Amino acid sequence: MLEDKAVVVFSGGQDSTTCLFWAKERYRSLHAVIFDYGQRHKEEIQCAVDIANEQGVPYKVFDMGLLNQLTANALTRENILVQAGEAGESPSTFVAGRNHLFLSFAAVYAREMGAKHIITGVCETDFSGYPDCRDVFVKSLNVTLNLAMDEQFVIHTPLMWLNKKETWALADKMGQLEYIRAKTLTCYEGIRGDGCGTCPSCQLRQNGLDLYLREKAGAGQ
Ligand code: ZN
Repeated sequence: MLEDKAVVVFSGGQDSTTCLFWAKERYRSLHAVIFDYGQRHKEEIQCAVDIANEQGVPYKVFDMGLLNQLTANALTRENILVQAGEAGESPSTFVAGRNHLFLSFAAVYAREMGAKHIITGVCETDFSGYPDCRDVFVKSLNVTLNLAMDEQFVIHTPLMWLNKKETWALADKMGQLEYIRAKTLTCYEGIRGDGCGTCPSCQLRQNGLDLYLREKAGAGQ
């Protein structure tokens, strides 16, 4: 164990669940923060809560309904279709400022808990047009949060430079591939595990898994 306390930003999806296991291997005391921002699928919150309970990680669910009040997007509104962004545009699932706000609130909570380490599953490799998933943004926010609260937080992004295939490889290395595959919710239709299989999120996840399993099978021959 490297350090004492850490806070993980947790959604119950593949990425943040991989980060949860990553952090469990490293910190004596881990807390999960779950943000309820009026996701169209309440199932997402329930999924995160179920995993935290199963893994014995204490958690808090914070009401971020304000985000839904501020912006309209496909993750919170039933009447907006999930669509990939046209050239130069953000996809319809983009919630402006979401990671910025979540990380900032997680830092306030971390300070309350006496935790210095904050873990988030943001990833630049598959960043799908979300500017606040980029490494330069996270580094900039880390500096800002430390100045804002006179703290020495360290924001960890274990998945920043991994593609989906490599994220599955990391899960497998930790012995959690099957757990993460079965229990997490990434699908825009709100279906756990392998999901609907057709939404952009399911496709990205499945392609990565297929690539990884094929590579692993090849290596085993
Ligand atoms: Zn899906």
